[in-house]
Amino acid sequence: MIIRDDVPVWVDESRCKACDICVSNCPAGVLGMRIEISAVLGKIIEVVYPESCIGCRDCELHCPDFAIYVADKGYKFAKLTPESKERALLVKENKFQKLEA
Ligand code: SF4
Ligand code: SF4
Repeated sequence: MIIRDDVPVWVDESRCKACDICVSNCPAGVLGMRIEISAVLGKIIEVVYPESCIGCRDCELHCPDFAIYVADKGYKFAKLTPESKERALLVKENKFQKLEA
């Protein structure tokens, strides 16, 4: 695992099995699946809105493949906002696919 201090949350794409679990657990709509032809399941996790990450670690704790990591407590994470919560709902309604810009 590579330790980083420049981003709140990051992914080791080589480990991701595209199970959607982290997306379903993220309360802030930070994550989403993107189409990736070369991936086994045709999709892969993406950190779409890192600036909205609240550092709750729900993604990291629930990932069965240890593919997603969250910065240490010292990182200056965002606060949960109504917009973030709303986006999390929309991503779930979108079958965990990232929303189009
Ligand atoms: S929970 Fe882990 S394996 Fe599943 S989509 Fe997220 S990063 Fe990938
Ligand atoms: S730490 Fe929490 S807010 Fe940040 S990406 Fe993971 S589940 Fe979402």
